[in-house]
Amino acid sequence: MVVATTLTGAMANTTLAYDLPPLPAYETRPMPDYLPFISDFWLALVAPHIAYWVVSMIFHVIDMYDLFPHYRLHTPEEITQRNLATRWEVFRDVILEQVIQIGTSAVLSLTEEGQTTGKEEYDVAVWGRRIRLAQRRLPNLLGLLGLNAEVISKNVAASHPLLAGALAGGYYPSLISGLDNVTGTQIPAFATWELLVAKAIYWVIVPAIQFWFACWVQDTWQYFWHRAMHVNKWMYTHWHSRHHKLYVPYAYGALYNHPVEGFVLDTIGAAIAYKVAFLTPRMGMWYFVFSICKTVDDHCGYALPWDPLQRITSNNAAYHDIHHQSWGIKTNFSQPFFTMWDRFLGTRWTGDVQEKYQRTRINAANKKRNAMANGKANGAANGKANGAPKENGSAKESAASPSPAVSNGSATRRRANGKAH
Ligand SMILES: [Zn+2]
Ligand SMILES: [Zn+2]
Repeated sequence: MVVATTLTGAMANTTLAYDLPPLPAYETRPMPDYLPFISDFWLALVAPHIAYWVVSMIFHVIDMYDLFPHYRLHTPEEITQRNLATRWEVFRDVILEQVIQIGTSAVLSLTEEGQTTGKEEYDVAVWGRRIRLAQRRLPNLLGLLGLNAEVISKNVAASHPLLAGALAGGYYPSLISGLDNVTGTQIPAFATWELLVAKAIYWVIVPAIQFWFACWVQDTWQYFWHRAMHVNKWMYTHWHSRHHKLYVPYAYGALYNHPVEGFVLDTIGAAIAYKVAFLTPRMGMWYFVFSICKTVDDHCGYALPWDPLQRITSNNAAYHDIHHQSWGIKTNFSQPFFTMWDRFLGTRWTGDVQEKYQRTRINAANKKRNAMANGKANGAANGKANGAPKENGSAKESAASPSPAVSNGSATRRRANGKAH
């Protein structure tokens, strides 16, 4: 598509024509793909999920090799003793949710026009003009403070010509880009600082605001749906209780949800955020990757001081982990970015958690010890009966059928089934 916009406005009004620097002509063309071996369409569909598994596997290795024991929120025993879903069930449901997300993203992408490039310089110049027009108001603003902008401008003209131009209301007689072919009139140009500010607005500030707004929308959507799923017993029992089977979250359990919850809370929430923040397809891809990495990090089970995703806001793994505990399940609904809704609506957990965490650690350790003792006793009995030793009582097996003798395990099981949430 070719759009000729040279000297926009010049045709309509010759006085205005060279009052402002002209906008450049531009020609748009399809944006080339990021990578040579995959189209942007497919990359946008799979990148968030590749990121999900890459980040998850990093945390999985940290977990399996117990690389940072001091930063663990829970002990390894707690993972095996307290969770009510097996790792296979978690993996299976995550894959299902990812298939749903990829399908939804494909539909969303098909409704988008192909992204083009070539108009960036024009858009920067539009911001340049806005900056120039904003300077027109400076003399009046300074006048409100009792300052004479014209006098100050003249005083600093020799030493600071650009400052003088801004104070005079954005008049830079020395900045000329050439002469008009027809009228011979001088064509004004932008000052270097104006273009730098315009580029910063176009390339950094506006996208940052769009990103922030998308985060805010997704947070808002998720907070109220999430809270509703705890208030409404039917929704909790049928949908949300599945996510709460993980009392000890781990990274790749982040998207362990009932498919309906996954679709409503995560998929639709992210899609709405993308649409209302007017993200471009390429920005959307980065947003989805960031959003999914943040969700994984929130479930990683580690409070890592050097993890940037945990430093951005106070909504991090430690914050969300409280919501996964039976005593904190009615608090900390906010996810995945900020804590504002919990703070505004009084659902943020307040109080000490150290003692509570310590208690669940001890319970899990006792439970494991009991399970191993039972396993040994059974093994000895079976060995005697069968005439051969038999392995029994592994931590995994005991996790699948937690001993009812441990009160914590039975209490949490009831909650996860939605009867006492
Ligand atoms: Zn919840
Ligand atoms: Zn969670």
